[in-house]
Amino acid sequence: MLAHTPLIEITPPDYDVVVDIRYATAHNFTNKAVYARPACFLHPDAATCVRRAIAYAADFGMRLKIFDAYRPPEAQWVLWNHTPDPNFLADPAKGSPHSRGVAVDLTLLDAQGHEVDMGTAFDEFSPRSHHGAEDITTDAKRNRLLLLGIMTSAGFDFYRNEWWHYQLFNSRTYDLIPDAHSGAHMMPT
Ligand SMILES: [Zn+2]
Repeated sequence: MLAHTPLIEITPPDYDVVVDIRYATAHNFTNKAVYARPACFLHPDAATCVRRAIAYAADFGMRLKIFDAYRPPEAQWVLWNHTPDPNFLADPAKGSPHSRGVAVDLTLLDAQGHEVDMGTAFDEFSPRSHHGAEDITTDAKRNRLLLLGIMTSAGFDFYRNEWWHYQLFNSRTYDLIPDAHSGAHMMPT
């Protein structure tokens, strides 16, 4: 049996973030809960970078709001079977960086705790979600650049098709982690 590095649960107040795990609710592109509970777990290396990002965002009076982190491989199959679009989802046969515990989907909150305008909603699968999209407001472009600067300064790589997705640079060197190891947050089938 493979030994996996234990994942770290990202919860306030230890991590000063807002956790809104969309796949534990029907408020996601499948319109159904995929997870049994709103679990927010990351590999320790990614958790270290999130801690840096939290501190960096705080300099701007902002906080992070996390939509997804570790995603069981089983969940990646549910999402892929719903929308098999390789521009927006990793083919589960190859493995998503989320399933390795080294990717996080997130946005920025302003000092009042409101989500800033990023030009599109989380998980809007359209070219407007791409970095460098022209057809969004200047404010939204500025907000995306701020998140990009915070996350890349903290040690994350970006993904050009999704303003909300960040992952460690060497994500493929991390093992895929089965759901059972994370405390099983898939919906029972
Ligand atoms: Zn993602």
